[in-house]
Formats: sequence, structure tokens, C-alpha cells
Amino acid sequence: MNPGRTYTLTDNKGESTLYYQLVRELADRFLDIIPDEVVLRESIRNASTWKGVLRRLSRRERHVGKILRDLDNVLTPFLTGVNEHLLTLSLTDRLDRTMRTSRDQYLFYMLEIELTNRINRDSFLKAPWRMALIAHCLRDFRKGCQSKRGEIEDQCTHCDLDCYVHMGSELLDRYQINPFISVSMDHQRLFKHLNNDHPEMGVLGIACVPELVMGMRLCEGLGIPVVGIPLDANRCSRWLGECLETTFSLKELEELVKPSV
Ligand code: SF4
Repeated sequence: MNPGRTYTLTDNKGESTLYYQLVRELADRFLDIIPDEVVLRESIRNASTWKGVLRRLSRRERHVGKILRDLDNVLTPFLTGVNEHLLTLSLTDRLDRTMRTSRDQYLFYMLEIELTNRINRDSFLKAPWRMALIAHCLRDFRKGCQSKRGEIEDQCTHCDLDCYVHMGSELLDRYQINPFISVSMDHQRLFKHLNNDHPEMGVLGIACVPELVMGMRLCEGLGIPVVGIPLDANRCSRWLGECLETTFSLKELEELVKPSV
């Protein structure tokens, strides 16, 4: 399978096991320095948000600098040409915060997703109404997707057993999580509207690394417990000009949503 435009979590056998193992080990290591998951995440979240002053900030806050160096040492193999991508951005793309995500931001975002899952998993699992938003680029475009407009977002009609949306939706259904294909652009409006109907809802996102982080921050800002799984690579038309097949880890998804015994 082709690499993603800026990151690829899978090896040449299509396995992302090593990525997940390494990001967990890094999170454990950083929690030895800052033992509170929320404090650690706020620290890296602030650093990743102030893109322009990141390096300066890293020098001033020594722990952030160390975290960034360790992330760089361990996770660099999963970044695929971020700097080259940034050099090709058009003026319009440079206004798009997803497209202009920097190398350091990718590294912090990968850790942020892991920490957010640890922080929110229990509240998400306890939420009486849970939904999943699955990136539309996971649909199998080879045969023509037969998804239908649902009450909230599009819904899979299971026309293709090899399609990752089908496989993810089946798994989510088994754990009483309502799966939808994410097609609307205004997620803030969507979540606010849903939160009125379901004041104790939980959200699971499956999206590329920068989109997932933005979605997680948005949900948390609205008080919604959120967890998520990154796509194995960013290969949609937004990044590549054409939509190439992409995947995510069904094993990690099940680990995330399976109630602990
Ligand atoms: S299985 Fe679902 S998401 Fe995949 S192509 Fe068919 S309808 Fe679309």
C-alpha cells in the first residue's frame, strides 16, 4: 500500500502494532516525569498549539523539550515527508490548519491521542448514548459506496464486506456504539445539537491524526467524553489529489471499546 502524504503508522505488512506499542511506551515514560495524565496532556497540547514559538518554548520548558526530543527519536519512522509536503502548500492550503500541520505537531498529536484515550476511556464507556464518526475516506470507492443519509450523518449499508467502514461499523454495533460516516463539515454545530438530545453522550472518532486531534479538542470543549483511533495513513484526495485506499486498526478499536473485565 502507498505511504500516506505525511504519516504512515503501518509497516510493509500493513501492521501498526509497533506504532501503538511505541506510543504507549512513550506515554508511560513521560508519565514518570509528569505523573498526571491531564497535566502532561495540557503541557504538550499548549506546546503543539503555539506552533510558531514551539522551539523557543521547548528550550524554556525543559520537560517539553525532552518530550519532543524523545518523540522525535522514536516516532520519526512513522512520519513520511511532512517537510516536503509543507513546501508544496498553496496559499489556500497554508490557511488550512490541518494541511499545514508541522512535523513537531504530528509528534505531539500522536502522544495527545494516546493520552486523551487514557483520560476519557472510562467516561466514554459509561456514557448512556455513544456514537462513532468514521472518516468518509475509509469507504471502498472501487465499487461505488451505497451509504445512505441517516438521521445524524451518512450510514453504511454494508454493501462491501472488505470495506473498513463496514468492518468498523459491525464492531461498533456489537458494543452498542452508533456508527456514522462523517460527511458534514460543521462538527461543532453537530455535536451541540446532539448534546441537547443526549446530554450524556460519548463520541469516538476515526480520522487522520490532525483531524482526530481537532475533533477531540472540540468535543472536550463541549464537555463530551471523546476517544479515537487514527487512520493508518493520510491518503485521501485532500492530501493526494486522489482518494487511495486507507485503513485503521480494528484490533486497537476493539481494545478501546471493549469493557474491561
Ligand atoms: S460497506 Fe458501507 S461504507 Fe463501505 S462502500 Fe458499502 S455502503 Fe459504503
